[in-house]
Amino acid sequence: MRSPLPFSWTTAAISIFAIIFNPGAFGQPPRFAAAPAQAESAADPVNILVDRLDLERYKNTIKGLTQFGDRRQGTERNRQAIDWIEAQLKSYGCANIERLKYNYQPPNPNIRDTQANTQGGPATPTPADAKSVGGGRPRGLRVRTGVNNDPNAQPDPKLRALDSPPSVPGAREEIYCTKIGTTHPDEMYIVSAHMDGIGWGEAANDDGSGTALVMELARVLNNSDVRTERSIRFILWNNEETGLNGSSAYVAQRRDVQGQENPPSSGKYPEPRWLGMIQHDMMLFDHGAPREDGTMSKEQRPEADVNIEFQVNSKFAAQSQALAWALEQADEKYATDYPATVSSHMTNTDSNPFMDVAPAISVRENERGTQIGNGWDPQWHQPTDLYATYNEKDFRLGLNAAQTTLAATAQLAGASLKPAR
Ligand SMILES: [Zn+2]
Repeated sequence: MRSPLPFSWTTAAISIFAIIFNPGAFGQPPRFAAAPAQAESAADPVNILVDRLDLERYKNTIKGLTQFGDRRQGTERNRQAIDWIEAQLKSYGCANIERLKYNYQPPNPNIRDTQANTQGGPATPTPADAKSVGGGRPRGLRVRTGVNNDPNAQPDPKLRALDSPPSVPGAREEIYCTKIGTTHPDEMYIVSAHMDGIGWGEAANDDGSGTALVMELARVLNNSDVRTERSIRFILWNNEETGLNGSSAYVAQRRDVQGQENPPSSGKYPEPRWLGMIQHDMMLFDHGAPREDGTMSKEQRPEADVNIEFQVNSKFAAQSQALAWALEQADEKYATDYPATVSSHMTNTDSNPFMDVAPAISVRENERGTQIGNGWDPQWHQPTDLYATYNEKDFRLGLNAAQTTLAATAQLAGASLKPAR
């Protein structure tokens, strides 16, 4: 664990406004500035782009991913899912499709398979001195969480068969495509989610919901009438569930070649500099805390929110926080139904390998440490993580997260629309 930065919440509160309203405060260009005043007008391009998102399309993309079952890394169904994602990205006009190659050797191939599923049971009070992963303070009642590794816990024989072939160690790929910036092709925002899953279900929420969000943003932002000043890369990580291996491989291979023109004088930048990284994982389910008997509300809670997290103990905490508030403001202006909440304990997600190298945040249905860790999502890594488990309000929360990241990314990357002929 690294030592924390000299960073206090008083400083933080001042810094937020310093960054948003005086973007030079950290010696950086005004990349996280709030929307210009013209954003209110009917011709606001961000508004037009957000209107191009659609609940039924978002649902259909999640449904499309679930045809490959849990998409566990190192399996044929995982590779088929990557090919399917590639075909969709191509059809959206995201032209620069590439794959990062790496090798994955599990430290102990059987470790997951020997874990008992300890999920569920009655709720118990969280001890007053409890600390969640990521450093947050959990509260209220909690239930046990765990990973299902029992094939027979999946009652649907067809899905059980689909999820049965085991992961094989070795070569891995993960896919990304890039919209090239018109005036700053050497700088980019990364919009990402992980496409692999576990638990003997369909990984519909974890992380079909985040993968579909990224794909829908790729669709909207690669429409032929959209221009962005800076580049945007859409990445679907593999091997998240084994310990962020896909995103870690990307950072290891690419961090030192950021911003380099290659070949020289070509105007091409294979790895634009990382201005910000926005990760999405589990976007659908915010039904509140578990009750005493361990059950949960069947409905999305009316006060559900989109949770934006940065990690206070990271080298880029201040810049990541500013990025988080840019999303929060985008939600306030453009999201149709649900508000966004910012907090400081980002953990266990693909933005973690980036957080000491670039501004990095994660977007979720709940806080990962204090809420999901306390059992707020009973489908997490379970056979019940199926497309059919979720209802309209659940999918709508994911759509609101898509509206939020789309609006923020469009503003930050300088999106504009070609006038209609
Ligand atoms: Zn996940």
